[in-house]
Amino acid sequence: MLPHRSWRHDQAQVRNAGVIGLSVRGRRSCVNRLTRVSVNGSPELLIVMGPAATPDQTEHVVARLEEAGAQARISHGRQATVIGAIGQLELLVGIPLEGFPGVEKVLPILKPYKLVARELAPDPTVIEVKGRRIGDASFGLIAGPCTVETREQTLETARAVAAAGATMLRGGAFKPRTSPYTFQGLGVEALEILREAGEETGLPIVTELLDPRHVEEVVDVADVVQIGARNMQNFLLLAEVGRIDKPVLLKRSPSASVEELLMAAEYIAKEGNERIILCERGIRTFESSLRYTLDLGSVAVLKEETHLPVIVDPSHAAGRRALVLPLARAAAAVGADGIIVEAHPRPDEALCDGPQQLPTAGFEGFAREIREIAALMGKEIG
Ligand code: PEP
Ligand code: MN
Repeated sequence: MLPHRSWRHDQAQVRNAGVIGLSVRGRRSCVNRLTRVSVNGSPELLIVMGPAATPDQTEHVVARLEEAGAQARISHGRQATVIGAIGQLELLVGIPLEGFPGVEKVLPILKPYKLVARELAPDPTVIEVKGRRIGDASFGLIAGPCTVETREQTLETARAVAAAGATMLRGGAFKPRTSPYTFQGLGVEALEILREAGEETGLPIVTELLDPRHVEEVVDVADVVQIGARNMQNFLLLAEVGRIDKPVLLKRSPSASVEELLMAAEYIAKEGNERIILCERGIRTFESSLRYTLDLGSVAVLKEETHLPVIVDPSHAAGRRALVLPLARAAAAVGADGIIVEAHPRPDEALCDGPQQLPTAGFEGFAREIREIAALMGKEIG
C-alpha cells in the first residue's frame, strides 16, 4: 500500500535528511559509485532508509527491486540514504518495501519530473569542471563573447575575464539567429579558437550545440555543452546530450514554464547524464522595455523543486548593457548559483548582440560587485 497520508511532512523530512546527490543505479557492486545508466521506466517511488540502516539493508532493497525488473537510484546522505525505485508503478507496489529491514518509509514521487526533483537528491548537486564548481556554496561566473568572431577578439576577451576572476569562458561557434541573413557563427573554426583560449587561460569552455550532427566536434572542445533557449524542447537534441560525458547548460525557452524546463532536464537525465545546469534567461511577456522579462521568481521556484544548480543570463534578458549589472546583482541575491554574461573588447564592433555585451575594460569592477553579493548569500565565486 502506498503511504499517501503525510506526503508534505515526509517530503520536508527527506529534504532535511542531507542526502548527497550521488546517482547510483544498477548492480549491487555499483553502490557508492557514480554511474551513467539510462533509465527505463519512470522513477515512481522514494524509499527512505532509516538513519541506522546498514549498507547491506540498502543493497537488499536494491537487489529486490532489480529481481522484480526495476532499477534503483541511490543517494547517500549524511543522515539517510534515499533510493529512487524506477519501473512500472503496478510492479513496484507489489513489492512489500515498507516491511524490509532498514526501510523507514516509502513515498510516491508525485511530480512529473523525477530524476531532477529535489526529493530524489535533497542535497544540492555541484557541477565541477576542471576544478571550477557551480552549485551549493560555489557561484559560477561564466563570461565571454556572444559569438567567436576572430581569434584576437576571443583571446582578448578570455584574458580579460580570466584576469577578473571568471570561472568559465562562454562563446558561440554555432549561433541560433532569428534572421538567416545575419552572422551565423564561425562554426568549427570558432571551436578551434575556443580551444586555444581555454588552453591559454585554463578556463573551461561553454559553447552551444545547435545540431546533433555537430555533437562530436562540439563535445571535443566544450567542457560544458550549452543547449540554447530555442532548442529547450528539441527532444532528440536533449537525448543526444543525455548520452555525452560533459555537463549540459540548459537554457529556458522564452515561452516555457518552469515545469517544462524541468521536464526538458528530465529528458537529459533519463539518458544517464545528470550533470545539468539550468539557466533562466528571460521570458516573453507583454513587457517591452527589456529584450525579455527576467523571471527571477522562477529561480527561487527552481531552487525549491530541483537539486540541480540554477544560473541566470542577465545579458540576453536585458538586451542592453546598463541593465546587466542590476539584473546580475538581483540574480545573485535571489539565490542563483551563477551567472552567464556576454563581454566583448569593443562591443560597438560586435557582430551579434553588441548592445548587451559588457566591455571587457569594465569587467573587473562588474565581477567585484557580483563577488560581494554572492558572498552575502554565503557563496564564493568558484
Ligand atoms: C547564447 O547564450 O548564446 C544564446 C543564444 O542565448 P539564448 O539561447 O538564451 O537565446
Ligand atoms: Mn548573445
